[in-house]
Amino acid sequence: MTSYGMFQLSPEHEMIRQAARDFAQKEIAPIAAQFDETGEFPSKTIKKMGEMGFMGIEVPEEYGGAGMDTLAYVLALEEISKADASHGTIMSVNNSLFCHGLLKFGSEDIKKKYAYAIASGQAIGAYALTEPMSGSDAGNMRSRAVRQGDHYVLNGRKSWVTSAPVAEYIVVFSMTDPEKKQRGITAFVIETDKPGFQRGKKEPKLGIRASATSEIVFEDYHVPVENRLGEEGDGFKIAMTVLDAGRIGIASQALGIAEAAYDASVAYAKEREAFGHKIGEFQGISFKLADMKTRIEAARLLTYNAALAKERSKKNDERYTLEASMAKLFASETAMFVTHAAVQIHAGLGYSKELPVERYFRDAKITEIYEGTSEIQRMVIARMETGLR
Ligand SMILES: Cc1cc2nc3c(=O)[nH]c(=O)nc-3n(C[C@H](O)[C@H](O)[C@H](O)COP(=O)(O)OP(=O)(O)OC[C@H]3O[C@@H](n4cnc5c(N)ncnc54)[C@H](O)[C@@H]3O)c2cc1C
Repeated sequence: MTSYGMFQLSPEHEMIRQAARDFAQKEIAPIAAQFDETGEFPSKTIKKMGEMGFMGIEVPEEYGGAGMDTLAYVLALEEISKADASHGTIMSVNNSLFCHGLLKFGSEDIKKKYAYAIASGQAIGAYALTEPMSGSDAGNMRSRAVRQGDHYVLNGRKSWVTSAPVAEYIVVFSMTDPEKKQRGITAFVIETDKPGFQRGKKEPKLGIRASATSEIVFEDYHVPVENRLGEEGDGFKIAMTVLDAGRIGIASQALGIAEAAYDASVAYAKEREAFGHKIGEFQGISFKLADMKTRIEAARLLTYNAALAKERSKKNDERYTLEASMAKLFASETAMFVTHAAVQIHAGLGYSKELPVERYFRDAKITEIYEGTSEIQRMVIARMETGLR
């Protein structure tokens, strides 16, 4: 039984971690460079991940998921991201950003209608909060949803929507009452094959290049009232609650990227020679490895701790915002620190596309940006500690 400080993995957790590791190393790692290069969406491996239960790990079996807990989700996502962060992104959006919000805030009817396909990996889900003129300041959105009888009419543009080019269903946030600002936002589940929905510009990205990202555009799109999540005006609260869950996923993704870069660095430090020594014998290299390892293990404890806090919240309904933000902040900055050091340790080879180290470095950066930048995480953490705005 593996234990990390106070965490002991149960046989079930060991099993899911091993299954994810075996699958990721055998089927994803060998194709990751090719999909990074072309930017193509890896449909085949994502479909297989669905068949293995990875696209809805915490979703109850009756809604098409694997019915496991948050730690199982974190362990699997860490292993998938260790092989390829793009697969990790696609997996985290289906699990956290789509399914978590739908199951927590959707009516029984819409849960039945949409959860199964997404949680079982037969369809791809997305989450559209960001707009061209509002990212961190999400409450300042310009898209509009106007109620007309039994439906709302959506107009506007959402940007940077992960999986939008391939998604069947999207959780969309739009303003129903602009005067109320944040309290005037409402959340909906929309279907992408209906009139009034268009995919816009595909984003050419630095990293996670195999995860498709694009704008989406609504022109008089009709969404039925029953597709609303929660009540009118609940949207901002729903968006932030969903991001609490999402940030634990991004922390796991960051941890996986950092571990991959660290493992490669240890192996290289033991093999590469300069001046008649293994480079790992130089203090300049070995101290880097020590710092990388220490930060990874600290990030792991924060991430697993946040997973346990989320698990507890299923019983006591308490928010785990602080734990999720601290895990996301620390793990993403760890991923950046570790991948930066990994490129340096590999030097010329670290800069070459012949090894995955440069990809780890490019992929790591996104974890400091999406689902709330590091500045926003610091703001959330500090506000929770001081009670000040
Ligand atoms: C690859 C990728 C995938 C994405 N996927 C999705 C998705 O699926 N769905 C979705 O809705 N969004 C998605 N996003 C959007 C992402 O969440 C935003 O990019 C992010 O929240 C930051 O918003 P912004 O880019 O508009 O930056 P801005 O909000 O304009 O921020 C610019 C800079 O100012 C800083 N800043 C802003 N406000 C403050 C403040 N109060 N105090 C201190 N500093 C501040 C920021 O930290 C940042 O450094 C994705 C983005 C990328 C790059």
